[in-house]
Amino acid sequence: MSAEELLRACQWLDQKGFVANHDGNISMRLPGNRFLVTPTAFRKGDIGSADLLVIDIDGKVLSGRHRVFSEWQLHRAVFQARPGMGAVIHCHAPSSTAFAVSGRELAIDFMPEAIVSLGPKIAHVPYHRPGAEGMSQAVHDAARAANAALLMGHGPLAWGLDLTMALARMELLEHLASIALRSVPLGGPTRLPPEEIEALSDKHRRAGLAAPSLLP
Ligand SMILES: [Zn+2]
Repeated sequence: MSAEELLRACQWLDQKGFVANHDGNISMRLPGNRFLVTPTAFRKGDIGSADLLVIDIDGKVLSGRHRVFSEWQLHRAVFQARPGMGAVIHCHAPSSTAFAVSGRELAIDFMPEAIVSLGPKIAHVPYHRPGAEGMSQAVHDAARAANAALLMGHGPLAWGLDLTMALARMELLEHLASIALRSVPLGGPTRLPPEEIEALSDKHRRAGLAAPSLLP
């Protein structure tokens, strides 16, 4: 069941053009502090159910014949920061990655529906070399502050109560980035006034979707 869902998500990332080569990784929380994850060094479109791994929080393989991806520390930091989250996705979707590699922050406060579903901000995590010290803490802080992040110089990371929500958030993040880029020749997106952002953020909170740091 979980495996089928995860494989569908891999196909989705592939078909959307959110990954190339071996880019991207997906994890789902299983009962007993275990996680179902994609293997390293696979094209997402080529992964079959026998290739998936079950690992513990430290990335130790409990079942499966492949190796875990090195970016597990990003996923682990989210799962530790947000015990209610059931899935984490990382990919290199082109528009959001364009913001990340340009060192430009992606605002969300120009689209009312996006604020209601994703929250009033996207977290921005400063560049860290993969595996570098400090990365886990930075992602942990991002996960407490928002429901999706841009890892500067790298790409997007999104999480949700379940895999469906995590995918929808990744899709929305990429869609926002694409809209923001297209609006540049027209003068760039116009930010909503603060009272609007507050009212929409309140709707987001009342839907039970808010990150901990946004709660009163
Ligand atoms: Zn990556």
